[in-house]
Amino acid sequence: MTATAPRQEQLWSRCAGCASLLYRKRLRRNLDVCPECGEHARLGAPERLRQLVDPGSLRLLPDRLPEADPLDFVDALPYPHRLTGARASTGLAEGVVCSTATIGGHPVALAVMDFRFLGGSLGCAVGELITRAAERALDDRTPLVLITASGGARMQEGALSLMQMATVSQAIAALREAGLLTVSVLTDPTYGGVAASFATNTDLVLAESGARMGFAGPRVIRQITGRALPEGFQTADFLLEHGQVDMVVQRRSLRGRLAALLAATRAGRPARPAVPRQEPASHRERLADDGAALAQPPDPAAEKDTGTPAVRDAWDTVRMARHPGRPTTLDYLDSVFDGFVELHGDRLGADCPAIVGGVARLAGRHVMVIGHQKGHTTAELVARNFGMASPAGHRKALRLMRLAARLGLPVVTLVDTPGADPGVSAEEQGQAAAIAENILTLTVLPTPVLAVITGEGGSGGALALAVADRVLMLENAVYSVISPEGCAAILWPDRSAAPQAARALRLTAPDLRRLGVVDEVVPEPSSAAHDDPAETAHRLRAALLANLLPLLDVPPAMLVRLRRQRFRRFGANRVGARAGLR
Ligand SMILES: [Zn+2]
Repeated sequence: MTATAPRQEQLWSRCAGCASLLYRKRLRRNLDVCPECGEHARLGAPERLRQLVDPGSLRLLPDRLPEADPLDFVDALPYPHRLTGARASTGLAEGVVCSTATIGGHPVALAVMDFRFLGGSLGCAVGELITRAAERALDDRTPLVLITASGGARMQEGALSLMQMATVSQAIAALREAGLLTVSVLTDPTYGGVAASFATNTDLVLAESGARMGFAGPRVIRQITGRALPEGFQTADFLLEHGQVDMVVQRRSLRGRLAALLAATRAGRPARPAVPRQEPASHRERLADDGAALAQPPDPAAEKDTGTPAVRDAWDTVRMARHPGRPTTLDYLDSVFDGFVELHGDRLGADCPAIVGGVARLAGRHVMVIGHQKGHTTAELVARNFGMASPAGHRKALRLMRLAARLGLPVVTLVDTPGADPGVSAEEQGQAAAIAENILTLTVLPTPVLAVITGEGGSGGALALAVADRVLMLENAVYSVISPEGCAAILWPDRSAAPQAARALRLTAPDLRRLGVVDEVVPEPSSAAHDDPAETAHRLRAALLANLLPLLDVPPAMLVRLRRQRFRRFGANRVGARAGLR
């Protein structure tokens, strides 16, 4: 909304929908919905809470966390300056406001995102605060209500912001296991990492009228596909039509609708729902060959790097990671594993060529291997959609993960993707929710999971295969919340700043090892993986065995607990003290 003149700024505003000049007080009385055309203006978190919760019931949760700039990120402005500016202009400490309250008399924990604060971006502090709200819901045994508004992950915090998708998702998973309702209300706009995690892996997904939600934004999709977008693409009604939300709700009905849903789900809830988890007795029992005496569970403190990775410029590493000669997942299935039997299909109507998966043996042990598949020639790359999985690919991976858990097979994932498929049909088929469900499922999967970033680890599409007990990374691979080109286009004048963005994002294996995103760097031959694929395979095989064997004896429940601790610490660690946390 734009004001007509400085003097009138407080009194009048212009509707973004119909351009009517509206008296601000009247607009506010109408919940910031234009009385002329019904346009829902964006709400800040404080106003949203005021509209939604019962008067007098709001209890804000602490929002102060230690300052965090984990990457020392600088683009045109240093990141701390941007934070200071956002605080000054919004009066908020961070991009989310969390509270307990009642809605229609029903107690809930709430997390309300505020788009005015750095585009509602998901950084470590936002992830930490939402996770704490979810943990509060678990403690209080109340439902969790999330009001989302976000452009996506916070680029200035690099891969650590990507990790927040897992951290919050596993908190949602804990509520799911405890039989507690989770509801997300999509408001305009909800995109990227937020869309592909807690905005869509809740029990119920409501969309406020006029909201748009998607994994990739319309501008990106238009640029990449060169296609015009369908009418109403990614709008609430479009999402409803494509089966991605439970309902579209007008703002004036939102509070009543939430109250009704809370009442209905409360009625049927058992007092203490015990969710028995079926757990395979022991993974070792299912393994064909378990001759070797197995080591103790991994101790992160005792972790040591194998080899000393050479210092190479981040942009050179990006180019190395994308080299067409670099071994692909199918190459590794041939060189590292034996007896691969590929399994196809998502059972919902498609088989995505960008994801391959199936059973194989690793030094005689049966495992489920799932990976992105690129190719060495243009024809291969096109046939595999450049390793960019569609929702069907993520659902195939999900099916194979669940199958592995049921059969007691460890899961090994090989990650090599520029990102998830940024296309119109991918969005129509629920790209965000497909990624979100994989992330959540991996946080609860009762079988060992070992992930290797072998080439490009691109954003949410990579994380959908990389929530694991151990995350390894080949020396010249990269893993990032956004491509350097994409980051440069947003934070620098143009995409030619990609090399600077690559350095700022801390996307190389040594950087990510230091940040704790990656547990171990697998050294490549002195030339590079593509110059000596056989030696690379040899080293990868050794690293896989060294990391997998200790996991095989860990009881499934403990594996899940340790995996959750691994991803829980990103928010807490980065923003400092865990004081007051459970
Ligand atoms: Zn209007």
